[in-house]
Amino acid sequence: MNKAQNQTVLISGASVAGPALAYWLHRHGFTPTIVERAPHLRDGGYAVDFRGEALDVLDRMGLLQHIEALDTQMGDAAMVDADGRPYATLPAAIFAGDLEVLKGDLTRLLYEATRENTEYLFGDSIAGLHQDENGVHVTFEHAAPRRFDLVVGADGLHSRTRALAFGPEGQYVRHLGIYTAIFNLDNYLGLKNTGHLYAAPGKAANIFTARANTEARAAFHFAADHLEYDHRDTAAHKRIIADRFAGEGWEVPRLLKEMDTAQEFFFDSNAQVEMESWSAGRIVLLGDAGYCAGPTSGRGTSQALIGAYLLAGELAAREGDHTAAFGAYERQMRPYVAEHQALGREGAERFFLPAPTQEVLDMLAANAPENTRTKPVRLPDYTPATAA
Ligand SMILES: Cc1cc2nc3c(=O)[nH]c(=O)nc-3n(C[C@H](O)[C@H](O)[C@H](O)COP(=O)(O)OP(=O)(O)OC[C@H]3O[C@@H](n4cnc5c(N)ncnc54)[C@H](O)[C@@H]3O)c2cc1C
Repeated sequence: MNKAQNQTVLISGASVAGPALAYWLHRHGFTPTIVERAPHLRDGGYAVDFRGEALDVLDRMGLLQHIEALDTQMGDAAMVDADGRPYATLPAAIFAGDLEVLKGDLTRLLYEATRENTEYLFGDSIAGLHQDENGVHVTFEHAAPRRFDLVVGADGLHSRTRALAFGPEGQYVRHLGIYTAIFNLDNYLGLKNTGHLYAAPGKAANIFTARANTEARAAFHFAADHLEYDHRDTAAHKRIIADRFAGEGWEVPRLLKEMDTAQEFFFDSNAQVEMESWSAGRIVLLGDAGYCAGPTSGRGTSQALIGAYLLAGELAAREGDHTAAFGAYERQMRPYVAEHQALGREGAERFFLPAPTQEVLDMLAANAPENTRTKPVRLPDYTPATAA
């Protein structure tokens, strides 16, 4: 590759998309730096799955075997009533994809694969972006200002990069009508590679095993239009959940208690990001920041991995010509993203089935995303400049 153009790339976000991009950028001869707001790697988290070509990308990264070793081995789950009695089986095909791992395990793996060749700045965030013809002047919340040739926002649904370069989040983020909380707890029900799910009108709660049944993850979901709350105030998020689920049956009272003391807790709306363009000059968006399809699509991690592969590959193939590369990246990703966003919206619409029958669940499994997709993305063979 001609390394004359656009060598240094700042990536905001060290989850899935960011480290995957750093990996490919380095292999193509670029110099990536990642800034991550969290003070350290986010190790915990919920399970995410991979489908289709994302496994191919992991294979090309030499990580497929490692990721397969982290498979949650999740089997079918049980729908239970208010007294805990199972009344239907939820096939794993609906929620576990081709391969399912804990998101934190994936992030750790990607970090280990990139740390030697990527500068990581933890506990910091981009504060300002000013681009000119030759580069981007970046100010940080803590670090001294620096100049980069290109900036990539891989900082998720509430992307700071997007807000700075494209405008406020309200213009791009579409709420899907569901709020979700997830937290860690002991596997106190003694479940083995499975989960139990409880559903009430407009509400759902579940518990799934994690880490070879030594731990569990529980989730609460409820239907609501846009709610106003402070995104950083965990105590307020827990109060919202406690209010919504007060008086519910099954294990809900115990789960609410567990949630109170949970160290790892996630709460957010289920939403999509819709943008007319994913780039503005030297700044480009990747993964959820630019085209979140929503958790109900089951495709977010796949999109992040494939987007990273294509973005880095196009920059290399076009010898750093960012305008041409960003255009080619977007053209290839758009149909794939559009299909997943449609799946995400459909998934959200049928999310709250109060007591689904076995027939309905089997029908959903038969229509799981991998069985219904029509637009597989083609992965070009970008020959890396350096060995892995
Ligand atoms: C409950 C739930 C379940 C899901 N299940 C699945 C599933 O089964 N399958 C699937 O494919 N996908 C699933 N997803 C979606 C998947 O998690 C995302 O699509 C995927 O993680 C996107 O990766 P990303 O790297 O683009 O963004 P994210 O994973 O959101 O990462 C963004 C990163 O940026 C960091 N950051 C944020 N702001 C800043 C800032 N200002 N400066 C620096 N860093 C910042 C964050 O700390 C984070 O590390 C699920 C999502 C949720 C919420």
